[in-house]
Amino acid sequence: MNYEAVIGLEVHAQLLTNSKIFCGCAVAFGGEPNSRVCPICLGMPGVLPVLNRRAVEYTIRMALAVDGRVAETSAFARKNYFYPDLPKGYQISQYDRAGEPISLDGGIEIEGEDGPRFVRLRRIHLEEEAGKSIHSEPGYDPDLSYIDFNRTGVPLMEIVSEPDIRSPREASAYLARLRQILQYIGVCDGNMEEGSLRCDANVSIRKPGDPLGELVEIKNMNSMRSMERALEFEIERQAEVLDDGGRVVRQTRLWNEEERETFPMRSKEEAHDYRYFPDPDLVTVEIARSWVDEIGEDLPELPDVRMRRLIEEYGLPQDMARQLTENRARADYFEACVGQTSGDAAGQTSGETAGKASGDARTVSNWMLSELLRVQHENRMDQQTLEERVPPDHLAQLLSQIKEGKISGKIGKDVLDVMAESGKAPAEVIEEQGLVQISDTGELEGVVDGILADHPDDVADYRAGKTKLLGFFMGQVMRATQGKANPKMVNELLRKKLAEG
Ligand code: ADP
Ligand code: MG
Ligand code: ZN
Repeated sequence: MNYEAVIGLEVHAQLLTNSKIFCGCAVAFGGEPNSRVCPICLGMPGVLPVLNRRAVEYTIRMALAVDGRVAETSAFARKNYFYPDLPKGYQISQYDRAGEPISLDGGIEIEGEDGPRFVRLRRIHLEEEAGKSIHSEPGYDPDLSYIDFNRTGVPLMEIVSEPDIRSPREASAYLARLRQILQYIGVCDGNMEEGSLRCDANVSIRKPGDPLGELVEIKNMNSMRSMERALEFEIERQAEVLDDGGRVVRQTRLWNEEERETFPMRSKEEAHDYRYFPDPDLVTVEIARSWVDEIGEDLPELPDVRMRRLIEEYGLPQDMARQLTENRARADYFEACVGQTSGDAAGQTSGETAGKASGDARTVSNWMLSELLRVQHENRMDQQTLEERVPPDHLAQLLSQIKEGKISGKIGKDVLDVMAESGKAPAEVIEEQGLVQISDTGELEGVVDGILADHPDDVADYRAGKTKLLGFFMGQVMRATQGKANPKMVNELLRKKLAEG
């Protein structure tokens, strides 16, 4: 039987604020366990939480980026449950029925299975992060469990979608898009390995056209790949249940990466009754329209807007523009580099047109998406390190050295390798390694004559009509000059001399 998958995601994003949501403790990753704690985030009796304004601002920023409707008043609720990493015995969160979340509605467009798909959002709310339990990790007694409260109280934004996603791949595309937006607007680093972005996936199946089926929630997946695999497994599992005439039971399941299967965490009987109620320690937040407008004015250009601008302004194909705008740093790098190349051209006496010549933009883009990525990959560098070693002005300089014929494109790639290893400017590398292209006619003529003299038979064959041998001669000259000969000049010289005989 063919079923349709119905998926809705609850995505948790840790916010990049300096301090925690209800106290002054620092927000950071790792470090000595329990070194960033205080009576408030440890949930001591009698303490009072004070809301971090920046956390609200970041949530509003996200709301505006996804066309959400920012509430005029928003309130916090207590979500009660017992767990060792939750010292108060409740989590301060927001809940539709006991306090309006900061944002409702909105949505984002993703590339769906068959064309663009709009995934509606239900709400975006703010809550506090729980602590971290440590079981059998290196350096800890395997017979004991430990708790690190450094994470407790880190501001957590939860973005809840409507069940508008139709396949595991679309779920990944959705999550990737959210991550991209979060990173662009600078509210979350999107690092799934470190857990600053996590996701619970709700999935049900139905025959197309039927009402929604009973859902299963898969908790806490921390990579796109696990999420896709978990959803694929779960869709298959539910289909088998239905095909056998059974019914899907609403439950929460966990994903086991080793076994590649989901298993039940709790079923309905053990389901939590969170007994949400308004938190009496926190006042209702009134969100002034003027503040929302201010935040909106500061919002950076969003990825799809930027992509469209790159296409228009620089005449780039959509695919390139999409790759360049994949993250903000890369798009910034691109524009900085193009700015430099046109600046250079304006300073030249070559009479070439300056400005955002689409030729330059295309060259920069080509080099970024092929050579820079290759170098990054080969050296196992992260993007940031690479961009520090090869800043945009260095790449721009390298490209103009090529454009001016100082070095060939091929040598340029070797120069880039050295630049990435050493952080040196291209001129320095070219100088040090003696890579300047030989464009001296006399010198080249000598080499060409030598090669032709060394291969009389091939010369005769060429003249008898085997003109394909030109490539062979080119190769010989290049080898003799360690690739430094100006290829265009060599080509001309060879043709001329071979025709002479
Ligand atoms: P809440 O937790 O707010 O009571 P739900 O449990 O209905 O709301 O929804 C939580 C998440 O589950 C949402 O992301 C929603 O899109 C998704 N969801 C709701 N119904 C279904 C369904 N039948 N199949 C798959 N996902 C669903
Ligand atoms: Mg829920
Ligand atoms: Zn604290």
